[in-house]
Amino acid sequence: MKKVVKFGGSSLASAKQFEKVGDIIRADKSRRYAIPSAPGKRNAKDTKVTDMLYSCYGVAAKGKNFGKQLDEIKARYQEIIDGLGLTLSLADDFSVIQDNFAKKAGRDYAASRGEYLNGKIMAAYLGYEFVDAADVIRFDEDGNFLSDETDVLLREKLGNLECAVIPGFYGAKPDGGIATFSRGGSDITGSLVAKAVQADMYENWTDVSGFLIADPRIVKNPKSIETITYRELRELSYMGATVLHDEAIFPVRKAGIPINIRNTNAPEDKGTLIVEGTCRQPKYTITGIAGTDGFASVTIEKALMNSEVGFCRKVLEVFEENDISIEHMPSGIDTMTIFVHKDEFEEKEQKVLAGIHKVVDPDHIELESDLALIAIVGRGMRATRGTAGRIFSALAHANINVKMIDQGSSELNIIVGVRHDDFKNAIKALYDIFVETQL
Ligand code: ASP
Repeated sequence: MKKVVKFGGSSLASAKQFEKVGDIIRADKSRRYAIPSAPGKRNAKDTKVTDMLYSCYGVAAKGKNFGKQLDEIKARYQEIIDGLGLTLSLADDFSVIQDNFAKKAGRDYAASRGEYLNGKIMAAYLGYEFVDAADVIRFDEDGNFLSDETDVLLREKLGNLECAVIPGFYGAKPDGGIATFSRGGSDITGSLVAKAVQADMYENWTDVSGFLIADPRIVKNPKSIETITYRELRELSYMGATVLHDEAIFPVRKAGIPINIRNTNAPEDKGTLIVEGTCRQPKYTITGIAGTDGFASVTIEKALMNSEVGFCRKVLEVFEENDISIEHMPSGIDTMTIFVHKDEFEEKEQKVLAGIHKVVDPDHIELESDLALIAIVGRGMRATRGTAGRIFSALAHANINVKMIDQGSSELNIIVGVRHDDFKNAIKALYDIFVETQL
């Protein structure tokens, strides 16, 4: 058995958290490759080291004295080293960092030092080999990630190492300069390592016990999801459920490696298992509910629209020309509705309307804003009759008007559009009908 374990910033924010991580790794010999994030927040008011590095570098880039900011960062690491009773010194690393900041080595370089230094501490603490991500994760000169080259480098390097710590979030460009993934990108590093070493499992340790069926800010104490497929997860993350970086699933998914989301503060919890496919029947008809606010809709009406060849294309081109992405597009016989993000649409609204008038000469256009979309997702839906019926009766009982319905062709999800004011009540009503009242 070979496991790759990634620990998020809150799992490594202090010596106490590091000790929990040490216990987790030592409890299972197959946890051989560890990917740390930079130290996160120790409490709600704290600042993540990555953010401290960005602002320290901001001062350096203006040519000002950044000594005070750098000292605060040094103190964060020293506190961890002292708390763990290690003899490790990061003095040499910090003097290199100081020089490179003064030479304006770039924001990505600055941010990456959070993971680099935490990786050094983690390797010393565990007695694992330290592998600098700059040696094994590759980007091109424009900062685009290079997956094939990375895979080869990781395989070569880790093939000879029984146990190693590889810092997350960054890699190197051909000229040796550092590039990072987007925020939260250590999840991607973990996934790449898991694929390269052909791990049996990619464990992603964070501060929650996996995915919850609904947003805990809306539903009180929602149940957690035990098993979810990659496809279901995509649907839910698109609608705003965030625990894992969006791009982290692709490398392991391709290799058929499951991801297990676990809680460093409650290691006995099983967390959520993310798999390609499963015969295990989900406990409830639905796997999860997620939603996002802030949509607007444009409804175009024209008699005999359905017999006019090219009507949709012409309308869609207007959105494309204005660089607006389309989220959903339900249609009727003489109407079509386009859902877009309100923020993206608002400033270009009049241009879009004029464009539509010009290309299709509609009878009427109606705009609506303050809409929310809710996705009800579940592989169990395909085998169950009456899911849609239950959704709509639950919403009707809660006095909620459904503005749009869209069932994905995979029968994996049903998306409903409701008014912003009904958003939270709709999620509560759906959770209630599928989880609380009926199995
Ligand atoms: N430290 C980086 C961030 O705060 C990357 C990560 O934690 O995954 O975004």
